[in-house]
This record gives sequence, C-alpha cells and structure tokens, in this order.
Amino acid sequence: MVTNDDQERNEGMEPGDEAEPGTPGTGEDICRACDGTGQLEGKECPDCGGSGYVIRGIGGA
Ligand SMILES: [Zn+2]
Repeated sequence: MVTNDDQERNEGMEPGDEAEPGTPGTGEDICRACDGTGQLEGKECPDCGGSGYVIRGIGGA
C-alpha cells in the first residue's frame, strides 16, 4: 500500500483511484462520488480530481 508520503509524489493518481493509470488489469470507471460529472457541490471532485473517472481493478483477477 502507498503511504501518505508516496501519495504526494504520485501525481498521476487521484484519491479515488485504485491503481496507477495504465496498470494491467485496471481500467477507468465512472467516479461514484460525483457520478462522472467531475464536480461535487460546484467544486472539483476530490476523488477523481475533476476528471469524472477513477482507476479501478477490472476482470476480478
Ligand atoms: Zn469524482
């Protein structure tokens, strides 16, 4: 698992991501926090960083 220190260096990841972009076995999914809008209450969604998508594990492997 990543530590808080590591997260600050992982600029490619958002808090809602389960893996780094491009990781095998993962894919983009609609952010459930903001329903893919990228915004929460008029501000950038903190989970997906405003992209509306997060990285999730797929395939159930
Ligand atoms: Zn979001």
